[in-house]
Amino acid sequence: VRAIEEEMLEISNPITFDDIASLSAAKELLNEAVTLPLLIPEFFVGIREPWKGVLLFGPPGTGKTLLARAVASMSDIRFFNCSSSVMTSKYRGESEKLCKVLFNMARHYAPSIVFFDEVDAQVSRRGHDGEHEASRRFKSELLSQMDGISSSSQGGKNVIVLATTNCPWDVDEAMRRRLEKRIYIPLPDAAAREEMFRIHLKSVVLGDGVDTKVLAAKTDGFSGSDVKLLCRDASMMPMRRVILNKTPQEIRDMKVWGELDAEKIPLLPQ
Ligand code: ATP
Repeated sequence: VRAIEEEMLEISNPITFDDIASLSAAKELLNEAVTLPLLIPEFFVGIREPWKGVLLFGPPGTGKTLLARAVASMSDIRFFNCSSSVMTSKYRGESEKLCKVLFNMARHYAPSIVFFDEVDAQVSRRGHDGEHEASRRFKSELLSQMDGISSSSQGGKNVIVLATTNCPWDVDEAMRRRLEKRIYIPLPDAAAREEMFRIHLKSVVLGDGVDTKVLAAKTDGFSGSDVKLLCRDASMMPMRRVILNKTPQEIRDMKVWGELDAEKIPLLPQ
């Protein structure tokens, strides 16, 4: 149990909604669907019964995982991260037991979020060829644990399942039905991309004439993750100049690294 706790109970760097550009509608919905029912369960009764599960869906790299982490870290809610590698490989054949232990732990530490990233991979559509008996058992245990959540929430043991996917149609139908509240996370528009450039470039000095508005206009179709990669790549520019034609020994002896932080990054769109 301790091993599972160490692996899944994630206490990562605190992040807040302010670190996530745009997506204000999704942030509000998440507050309403996850945070409030966990914090004030006495209000969420009767017709206001909390959702069994919440699904964040949309294109890759749009901040779904980031939003889930922020929800937990902003309200001191325990966050159990059930990545598919832990659920399927390490405890192969035991994932059904693991699932039981996981939900017991989540109830013990409540309020908690049980988080399934890329849930389509972990709980894929039933009955396709080659489906493992173990994964079938895991699925049915998960579904029954989710059904148990709503009844135990009457007793104040608050657990919500939060999941993400890029392919909602590949999620097992029974699981999808239990992920009652669905929140679409779209690709960012120009204003959102501009905010992302500001967030990711706040620790670098920008070259004269670099305009985040122009960068945003030139990156139509980029996801949040694409914008971040572009910023990371650009932040390496000063280093590339100083290491040019240097041997590894010369690079190790260089004392310029601190100074490079102050160098302007000429991030001009092509
Ligand atoms: P996938 O579906 O591929 O798992 P995802 O939607 O869960 O992707 P994240 O993992 O949350 O995407 O985002 C990847 C990275 O992109 C984040 O670490 C973050 O740095 C950046 N990013 C994405 N969206 C935003 C955003 N709205 N604001 C700031 N950064 C963002």
